[in-house]
Amino acid sequence: MPKIAERINKVKSTIADACDRVGRDVGEVKLLIVTKAAELNDIKEVIRLGYKDLGESRAQRLKKVSAEISEFLYKNPQLAQDIRWHMIGHLQRNKVKHVLPIACMIHSLDTLRLAEQINSRGESEGIKAKVLLQVNTSQEEQKYGLPVGAVTHLAEQLMTFPNIELHGLMTMGPLTKDRDFIRSCFRRARELFEELRGKNIAGPEFKELSMGMSSDYEIAVEEGATIVRIGSAIFSE
Ligand SMILES: *Cc1c(COP(=O)(O)O)cnc(C)c1O
Repeated sequence: MPKIAERINKVKSTIADACDRVGRDVGEVKLLIVTKAAELNDIKEVIRLGYKDLGESRAQRLKKVSAEISEFLYKNPQLAQDIRWHMIGHLQRNKVKHVLPIACMIHSLDTLRLAEQINSRGESEGIKAKVLLQVNTSQEEQKYGLPVGAVTHLAEQLMTFPNIELHGLMTMGPLTKDRDFIRSCFRRARELFEELRGKNIAGPEFKELSMGMSSDYEIAVEEGATIVRIGSAIFSE
């Protein structure tokens, strides 16, 4: 079996094992394949294998790679055409106009100013943007993401933006080998997620919890992730 297929299968079986351990249905967890460090040929391979949810962390590269993949799909009409690009990295306001027409979901909304930009751009383009609020669950370690205590308020403000639809939360595990600390961060995100759902701040589409990368997705799945974002476990040696 080609290497990429083998690695994806390994990730999928790791996800399935983590689901088993905590009694979750494996169908609840979506594998988002992060292509930010992948060769174009390897991305094409992933698409040939039938995977449709792909993620990029920089606006410029998202634009370039998605255009190259569109051209590839145009020349290969036998392949599934409905690839979904996710914007997972920090988004600057001046890049919103590039990202909105491409991304099916923006995982990294973390300020009111960015929300305003997405909403007004969405209005002029006739796009209702699907977003996740990025939460900084590890406090001091990361630059981006809302403090846990600020999430509810921004979520409430988003309800007044007709061109934004809030689909859930995203968090990044802390860069540490301390598995217990990583787990506590994911658990905090899950609690917040449940809390917001209970409050009915968003609609029924508020159902995604995007957390877990190559080094920590097993823990994230055990703690309730509905989307895991995996790059290096699939593309690098
Ligand atoms: C790069 C990146 C990932 C994937 O990380 P890997 O360690 O390569 O699996 C996930 N989420 C975000 C926001 C990233 O920037």
